[in-house]
Amino acid sequence: MESQNEEAKFSQHNEREWAVATALFQECHCTTGALTVGSLTGTVNEVLGRRGETYTLEPRAVGDVLRSLRLQTCKLGNLGRGLRITQQLTGQVHQLASDLGITRSDILNYQAVDAGYAGCLCKLCEIHGLLVREDGTKLRTVDPFKTLREKDSVGTGLYGKRIR
Ligand SMILES: [Zn+2]
Repeated sequence: MESQNEEAKFSQHNEREWAVATALFQECHCTTGALTVGSLTGTVNEVLGRRGETYTLEPRAVGDVLRSLRLQTCKLGNLGRGLRITQQLTGQVHQLASDLGITRSDILNYQAVDAGYAGCLCKLCEIHGLLVREDGTKLRTVDPFKTLREKDSVGTGLYGKRIR
């Protein structure tokens, strides 16, 4: 009985978890240092919007999802609660992406994916085999230093956000 309830709960929260994991997957490639739950929520809602969803999540709900994904938030001084982008977190996020079937094409704009670009090089994406299109074709990565100089012309979507 208990496990059935758990399953029902999971399918109901499935999309939220997917959206939060996708947002985190995106953030851990373009954010360094700390990530507040508030700022993550903005990305989560962007992900939901891209998927055509009309609802948005509140930071509190995102916090709940993070807990259910076993990602521990901490207090970030006067910024409020959030996550520290550490190697450990980045590793967890890639594992999660791989478990939930999220790939780099989920965090890129269509033009970049159509052109076969995966954006910046990431060892973890390579290890987890996440550099693929939906049809299974491998995406090309680009040298991040070269790309930084031409970042806006590449249009991968990963460089649209300035590194804070
Ligand atoms: Zn990666």
